[in-house]
Amino acid sequence: MASINCQKCNSLLEEGYVTDSTLTQSKSETWIEGKTSKSIWACLDTSDKRSFEVVVYRCTNCGYLESYATVEK
Ligand SMILES: [Zn+2]
Repeated sequence: MASINCQKCNSLLEEGYVTDSTLTQSKSETWIEGKTSKSIWACLDTSDKRSFEVVVYRCTNCGYLESYATVEK
């Protein structure tokens, strides 16, 4: 995906992903820069379900998050 701009303030969005709080032991969801590590999800049995990798873009200016689930695993 080419460069995407924030819907709120039109600043540049950076690629990352959001982790579930049960995996990170934190109290809230956490946005992490870069691509997901497949090993995090290895313990989940989702073999009979369709799944998509979710990429979450974070605005570098205002923090707005925009999610895309476009790549089927
Ligand atoms: Zn923004």
